[in-house]
Amino acid sequence: MALEKTLVLLKPSAVQRALIGEIISIFEKKGLRIAALKMIQLDDEMLSEHYAHLADKPFFQRLKDSMTAAPVVAMVLEGVEAINVVRTMTGATNGRNAFPGTIRGIYSMSKQENIIHASDGLRSAIMEIKRFFKDEEIYEWKQTCFPLLYSEEEA
Ligand code: UDP
Ligand code: MG
Repeated sequence: MALEKTLVLLKPSAVQRALIGEIISIFEKKGLRIAALKMIQLDDEMLSEHYAHLADKPFFQRLKDSMTAAPVVAMVLEGVEAINVVRTMTGATNGRNAFPGTIRGIYSMSKQENIIHASDGLRSAIMEIKRFFKDEEIYEWKQTCFPLLYSEEEA
């Protein structure tokens, strides 16, 4: 079982609705290690890269406008199988369909204004972490409660 890093963005909708602390707290309490954390204002260029897979969609400009309407909170989370764990915690894209208990399920009624972005696989996690963080912004601090979070076999 691999220790993975994944990228999370708390979108402008989360920042405006005063959900930053609450959502960070959910990840902290889960046991994920916060390896990096900052607030940034996204721009058109970053978003064209980040959402390149959606460039031909009719909602692309609307999505970019929504993602630049306020700063976002970007973080790198680490844990065993963290990419999948965080995606599962995030929930379905459309907040109306997201399971209760997931972050989108709890906080979102919308497909666009769905509060959070999380990397969807190993390749995208690596690319996205590089897109938003310099190496020196990512900290390798030791999680002293690690032995309480995992069995020896898992970690
Ligand atoms: N999105 C949207 N309308 C759609 C599909 C997606 O506004 O029909 C937005 C939504 O904010 C979503 C983002 O585009 O989070 C990226 O879409 P993706 O399909 O990658 O969904 P995600 O991985 O975020 O669940
Ligand atoms: Mg996606």
